[in-house]
Amino acid sequence: MAEKTKASERIVLDIPADFTLEEFAELCRVKPESSAFEMLEDTLPLVKSFGDPKAVIRWADVDRIEGTLTTIEGITFDSKVVADKLQGLGRVFLSVVTAGDGLERSGEFDGDPFLDTYNGALLFHASRFVVRYMKDKFGFDGSSMLNPGSLPDWPISNNFALFEIIGNVDEIGVSLNEAGYIRPWNSGSHIHFAGDGYQNCSLCKKFNCIGRRAPFDRAEYERIFGKE
Ligand code: SF4
Repeated sequence: MAEKTKASERIVLDIPADFTLEEFAELCRVKPESSAFEMLEDTLPLVKSFGDPKAVIRWADVDRIEGTLTTIEGITFDSKVVADKLQGLGRVFLSVVTAGDGLERSGEFDGDPFLDTYNGALLFHASRFVVRYMKDKFGFDGSSMLNPGSLPDWPISNNFALFEIIGNVDEIGVSLNEAGYIRPWNSGSHIHFAGDGYQNCSLCKKFNCIGRRAPFDRAEYERIFGKE
């Protein structure tokens, strides 16, 4: 049974970088037999010491869905995929998750060509922590996620509205640039909903993306967006 909190309650999470060397290698997509593995062993203490991932999450009520318009907490998004995926759901979790800028601030990684890889690992770790937290604390499976900007149907500019609903997101050290991209870059924003593990990758046509987490689902794409 999911624990109920007021819809307006925000939860700020300081996320420990408490992964093992093996987990760190997996997060960096480095195989144990690779020569890069030894380098990770040397770097791990610094990443654990200076890494500063954080998240802010918030329950939000889905007020109504009409056609392609979905209203959450009084703010309306125009997106086919958002309307489709949130159909029939009363409540969702919103989140902003960031690797933070602890590694940069430490000065220990100045000129390190793998800094982005380490920050990507911190973000991935933080995202998994957030999904686990929702499950453990509220019994909510938030592994189905919608992210502004990964599909043309729901562009990055929707971050402005999402941040407004969550409120005071700068508390975890993130902000939006003029276009709606999050700074620091290794950050992400999401609507988590009870579903079947949906990831935007399944509807994304960037077929050569090395970060793909789900295969392209043509039938589902045509069901939601129609045939081209
Ligand atoms: S395939 Fe790549 S670009 Fe497309 S949604 Fe997934 S991670 Fe983003």
